[in-house]
Amino acid sequence: MSLNKVERNIIYQGKAKILYSCSNPSNLIQYFKDDATANNAEKHSIILSKGIINNFISEYLMKSLEIKGIPTHFIKRLNEREQLIKKVKIIPVELVVRNLAAGSIIKRYGINEGIKFSEPLIEFFYKNDSLNDPLLNEQHIEEFGWSDNNEIKLMKKEALRINKILIKIFDNAGIDLVDFKIEFGHCFNKKNEKQIILADEISPDNCRLWDKETKKILDKDIFRKNLGNLISGYQEVADRLGVKIN
Ligand code: UDP
Repeated sequence: MSLNKVERNIIYQGKAKILYSCSNPSNLIQYFKDDATANNAEKHSIILSKGIINNFISEYLMKSLEIKGIPTHFIKRLNEREQLIKKVKIIPVELVVRNLAAGSIIKRYGINEGIKFSEPLIEFFYKNDSLNDPLLNEQHIEEFGWSDNNEIKLMKKEALRINKILIKIFDNAGIDLVDFKIEFGHCFNKKNEKQIILADEISPDNCRLWDKETKKILDKDIFRKNLGNLISGYQEVADRLGVKIN
């Protein structure tokens, strides 16, 4: 057994990923599982190789964001299921950026699916499965001490920059970026200054992706809505992005 394997401990076990410690205390290993869940894990399946495709797609998107100046936790992909990442303390607020209406927002406000928002719409949700990730406003986030005004402004600005970059990447692949969810975390940079960086993953598990022409769904809604083969949708996203899975 390699030294790496002996040393690692599970730090966090999520629905779709596991985080392990590694020899460098500033870093972690992020492992992509095949578990697919929906409705706060009410619906659960193992979908063979989903974790592998998400690992490669997320690597590609995180690297593309880094190139455009977005600081992320991504360091490098280690193998087909694992990435080396910077260890961060996750801010328990999920940011959802929406370009077109779909998912929870259409049920919540009774609006039509597919309408384009005049500006990208940002929503916040409290990352807490036992409470079903409730919707938050900025005052809630400050009042409950999860983040402060300056950080919220920064996260919103970063979310909009990320949205612009991702829209372009997917547009070039003939795909509409309908919406996506991101998470940020705190870490310390080389000068020991506290920094906020993009964490978690960006993959068809946490984006809505529609073919621009046919509106065919290529994301986790295939699983949520029983629309067919999830892997063929995810593989199509990888192929269109030019991401090779090997
Ligand atoms: N999303 C996610 N994790 C969550 C909730 C949502 O990654 O716990 C993503 C979801 O895949 C979609 C976007 O965030 O791309 C908006 O999701 P929505 O609020 O519509 O919730 P849903 O009904 O999809 O759970």
